[in-house]
Order: sequence, then structure tokens, then C-alpha cells
Amino acid sequence: MKNHFKTTLLGAIILLGLISCSKKGDNGDMDNPTFTGPNLAATNLSVRVIYLVPADRTLNKAYTDAAGNCINQLSSWYKTTLGSNKTFHLNNNMLVETMQSSHPAAWFNAQNNNTGDAQFYFYGNAKSDIQTLLGAGFDDSKYVYLVYVDAAGTTGAGAAGFTAMPENDLKGLTGQMTEPVSRWIGGAGHELGHAFGMPHPTNENPNALMWTGYTIYPACILQDADKVILNASKFFY
Ligand SMILES: [Zn+2]
Repeated sequence: MKNHFKTTLLGAIILLGLISCSKKGDNGDMDNPTFTGPNLAATNLSVRVIYLVPADRTLNKAYTDAAGNCINQLSSWYKTTLGSNKTFHLNNNMLVETMQSSHPAAWFNAQNNNTGDAQFYFYGNAKSDIQTLLGAGFDDSKYVYLVYVDAAGTTGAGAAGFTAMPENDLKGLTGQMTEPVSRWIGGAGHELGHAFGMPHPTNENPNALMWTGYTIYPACILQDADKVILNASKFFY
């Protein structure tokens, strides 16, 4: 896991008003958004993108669309950059699964049952909640999960099979942070890279996606060692 504490902290001190989309239609439908997930027909060996809405927050269609755009761009970027005509696969029947959590936003960054480094409480809570919501359907041998939670977290993080990104990433993907949207797509690409098994490079190449190259996405690179891992991954075909 890479500690993006510095950039997250920077984001946290930039106070931006949330864009309100709460204009109520005549029939009030916008107050009753439909959650699409979980996807009960997800393709075997695919990346599942889940946008998880805490109990005290509402579904924001701009976030759903931005997460979908992000993963589509990354699928193309990985294919082009890997150069072996392989990339990861998505679910065309439900590109982004939207789901409601029973927990309020503040729960996700609390300690709860986590031990160890507090900066990874968010990751542990997000994974725990998704496992609860998906029940027996949770299977990280068949799927890699990219989960956006509209809740504060110290850092986005990825480890084998599961990636969790906090509210700052949703804000970043929708132009509400100081950095360009591309940096936030790169950030997802980096954490997803961990979920595919790629470590941080020992050569600390600043252009590498798996080092700090995510900040210059899409101009970053996959190094030879990364390509070996991805070409051997069952999720790349
Ligand atoms: Zn990392």
C-alpha cells in the first residue's frame, strides 16, 4: 500500500462546497434514487467497480458517471501501455454498481474492529462493509474490486484483489479538487495496480505508475517488471 497521506491531507484542507444537485422534480423522484448493485451477473475474472453511499449521504449521479469514466479510461490505458493486447475486463451490464451502506460516513474512518496503522482503518472498514453487503457473493478469486466510498478516509489503498478510495477521490474525479481529474484517475490506476499484484518499484522511477507517476497520468509508464506481473495475471486477457 502506498501512503497518499500527503496529497490526501492537502485535499482535506481545501474546503470546497459540495455542489448541490438536490433540485426536486415535480414527482420527487430525485429523492428516491435507485441503487443498481450488487451485480448478480458479473463476469468471471472482471473488475467490479462499486460506488458505496453511506447511510447519511445520497447517491450522486455525477460520481457514478465519473467512476465509470475513470475505469473505462484505465482499461484503455493499461491495454495501450502494456502493449500485449491484454487488459482487465469490466461488466457491461453494470459498469458501476451503486450500493447503500447501513453505516454513516463517519463510521468508515473510525477504528471499529481494526488493529494496526490508523491510516488503513478506512480500507479495513470499506472491505468489511462490502463483504457484509455482498455476503457469499464476495469472491476475490473471481473479481478485483475497486470501491469508491463517499466518506472521509486517510488514504486510498489497494492490496490483493481489493481497492478502496475515499470521498476525496470522488471529488477529484468530478473536478472538485485542485489537481486535474487525470491525477485522480492515475491514483485509481496505482491502487488498482496493487490489487493486480504490482508492488512499488525499488528503482523509485518517478515516471512509473506504481511510484509517483500516477500524478502525471496518462504520461506515466509501466516498467518491465510490472508488465511481467500483468501478463501473468488471470485478470489480464
Ligand atoms: Zn502504492
